[in-house]
Amino acid sequence: MSDIWIMRIGHRPERDKRVTTHVALSSRALGARGIYVDTYDEVLEQNIRSVAERFGGDYEIKTGVRWQDATRGFKGKVVHLTMYGERVDEALPKIPRDEDIMIIVGAEKVPREVYDRADFNVSVGNQPHSEIAALAIFLDRFTEGKALYSDRHGKLTVVPNERGKTVVENPDRRRMRAASHRRRLQAPGGRPLLHREGRGGGDRLPHRGGRHGPGGRRRLAA
Ligand code: SAM
Repeated sequence: MSDIWIMRIGHRPERDKRVTTHVALSSRALGARGIYVDTYDEVLEQNIRSVAERFGGDYEIKTGVRWQDATRGFKGKVVHLTMYGERVDEALPKIPRDEDIMIIVGAEKVPREVYDRADFNVSVGNQPHSEIAALAIFLDRFTEGKALYSDRHGKLTVVPNERGKTVVENPDRRRMRAASHRRRLQAPGGRPLLHREGRGGGDRLPHRGGRHGPGGRRRLAA
């Protein structure tokens, strides 16, 4: 699967903080490589990097990038999600899987030029709803659900449970912490390495460790 980038336009830091955060988090969870946001927002960048730092993968965020600059010279296909677009089930087979894609989602008014620039204007249903919902459904279909439980080799990994919460630390970090704990003769009040709550199991994931995500991938260009 090639790389998926998101371009979020119309972001207003004072009003759209939560929605744009969720656009980024949802796209990360559903397999995107990173997001461009048109308005500079340092707090948003810090929040998203903090999640990526703890939960792994190599998701990137860059704010203050105009959609014209992000799409100019982009080598893959540009997909604009809009309720006026072609049906998602008809568009999906036409979108190449061996090229990167950049998915544009709006906030309020989307300029006419975006429709013209897009290689595909795609609707996720013909009712107005939300950029988060549209993006999540599109990504889940585009990736055929493969991203949902993919291992991101994060410092923390959540293990699915019928009940309770299980969070496992990466074994490399566990070993480092264990060595450090031994040196400090188990400092009091330290956090447990394996958190168990409720009646959830405490199974540990078979981490592969090593690099976080694929190496040598392109980084945000703009
Ligand atoms: N009237 C606005 C416009 O000019 O497109 C819609 C704004 S809507 C609140 C915010 C974004 O959600 C849109 O720009 C689009 O990316 C996405 N969106 C909302 N409904 C959608 C649908 N049915 N299909 C695809 N995308 C949708």
